[in-house]
Amino acid sequence: MRIGLFGGTFNPIHYGHLRASLEVKEEFGLDKIYLIPSAIPPHKSPRGVVDAKDRFHMIQLAISDQSDFIVSDVELDRPGPSYSIDTVHHFQKILPKDPRFYLILGTDAFYEIDTWKAYKDFFDLVPMIIMLRPGDRFSMAPKRHSYFETFLKTKISEKYSYSEDLSCFIHPEKQSIFIAYITSLDISSTHIRDLIGRGKSIRYLVPDSVADYIVTKGLYL
Ligand code: ATP
Ligand code: MG
Repeated sequence: MRIGLFGGTFNPIHYGHLRASLEVKEEFGLDKIYLIPSAIPPHKSPRGVVDAKDRFHMIQLAISDQSDFIVSDVELDRPGPSYSIDTVHHFQKILPKDPRFYLILGTDAFYEIDTWKAYKDFFDLVPMIIMLRPGDRFSMAPKRHSYFETFLKTKISEKYSYSEDLSCFIHPEKQSIFIAYITSLDISSTHIRDLIGRGKSIRYLVPDSVADYIVTKGLYL
């Protein structure tokens, strides 16, 4: 089993998250992807972040017809801020030994990883799949001598190098880092919240079920 762990605020979930998940799943032959909304995002001000139960429910609506996508409430049940490292430990503990986990994140999130709790541990524990995020000024092909490689070498370890054969960054002791060249969809939750605030439509940026839920509950007004 290959399992993707995809965390975020999902405030709200949108087609950028959904299409990216599907493409990563297919490209990396993942069997399942867990979408894991954070309860109290450690890096965001709680202002403007709607109740975790609403964000959870919107993910449920968005993935209802995709049985290999699963929404996880692990971070919602945990008291205090949500730390991804605790989530990785949780999955490694509750699921049998054989699945291989992959941490999925966008380039924007990756370039902040050195602010995460115990961030160096991720590189020992799980391979990562980094998705190019449009609008990110560093999202040019993260190969040799790029900002990406420099970041990896200076913040994590000098011994990372790009393997053309394996199409990923490899390290003698640490886990590999894969790059996912997904379809660029320049959609963000920030933009969606902004549109709602200005009374504009969010149709075709999120599934209709999510748009309807937002209207019914009067979220982001
Ligand atoms: P916000 O604008 O509130 O920060 P967001 O759209 O960035 O919201 P998050 O919940 O912060 O969404 O992102 C969760 C994860 O999904 C991050 O790893 C982020 O890089 C990734 N992601 C979000 N939107 C996209 C997108 N359009 N394409 C690729 N990856 C994305
Ligand atoms: Mg974000």
